[in-house]
Amino acid sequence: AKKQAEFIWFNGNIMPWQEATVHVMTHAIHYGSSVFEGVRAYHTPHKGTCIFRLQEHTQRLLDSAKIYRMTIPYTAEQIDQATKDIIKKNNLKSAYIRPIAFYGDIGMGLQVPFGQETEMVIAAFEWGAYLGEEGLQNGVDAGITSWNRLAANTMPTGAKAGGNYLSSQLISMEARRHGYQEGIALDINGYLSEGAGENLFIMRNGVISTPPRTAAILPGITRDTVITLLAEMGYTVVEENIPREALYLADEILMCGTAAEVTPVRSVDGIKVGNGSRGPITEKVQSAFFGLFDGTTEDKWGWLTPVE
Ligand code: PMP
Repeated sequence: AKKQAEFIWFNGNIMPWQEATVHVMTHAIHYGSSVFEGVRAYHTPHKGTCIFRLQEHTQRLLDSAKIYRMTIPYTAEQIDQATKDIIKKNNLKSAYIRPIAFYGDIGMGLQVPFGQETEMVIAAFEWGAYLGEEGLQNGVDAGITSWNRLAANTMPTGAKAGGNYLSSQLISMEARRHGYQEGIALDINGYLSEGAGENLFIMRNGVISTPPRTAAILPGITRDTVITLLAEMGYTVVEENIPREALYLADEILMCGTAAEVTPVRSVDGIKVGNGSRGPITEKVQSAFFGLFDGTTEDKWGWLTPVE
């Protein structure tokens, strides 16, 4: 693996990055049997390095495991502590953090023994703006893909499981092949769902809407952050089924996720969103979001967990 940090946390031990390896017969490689998270830590001037919404990410990891009846042999507190430890051990000021629990070398076959424990890794490394610094400022070009998001009774999109990301890869590969920076998927009913790894908000005439949980989305922690920050500014977000054409008629669209942070969308399927640049509500949300890390937005919710 390309070395992205000095150390990695693997099954309770901190070890050199290059030594954190698994066998080729690892169950998760064959069957996608992993659950994971993407978390970020930011360098803040007032509280040092802080992990953003760590408790919520750890809870979602445990929820994803519960859905798949996986036993992660660590408590939430142990996972939170290990996350802090690996950031410190790598001397990271800011980081992208990837906790992942997976079935290891437990033999072939889909019938996992009852009570089988997972392996667990926490990697932390530097990772800049997922859709680029320029995307954060000026917006990205997105396209609707021909792949629908998973139907609710096929695989649970509320779980952040490894196998789900085959869908995300199809969505983003097709988008890139057509020259877009990110792909947006509709659900099986034809309504707006989400980006390959981001939730979406659309604004028109001061009304802000976002797809509901029934639209095959991952209920994003950044999505929740955006809803909360908007409420703080006096805006209400409507969760409703959104037809494809609403994207074409929007004044503003933003995508959000831990990796993508809060990024404006400046075109969809080659149609300009609003005037084709970052809109005023998006800019307000962005500055409230990044303000949490430079201290200009008060953290009323206890979202920042200092590493020290
Ligand atoms: N949808 C999908 C499919 C994702 O992979 C992600 C990133 N985890 C999101 C939405 C955004 O979720 P979050 O804000 O919790 O990172």
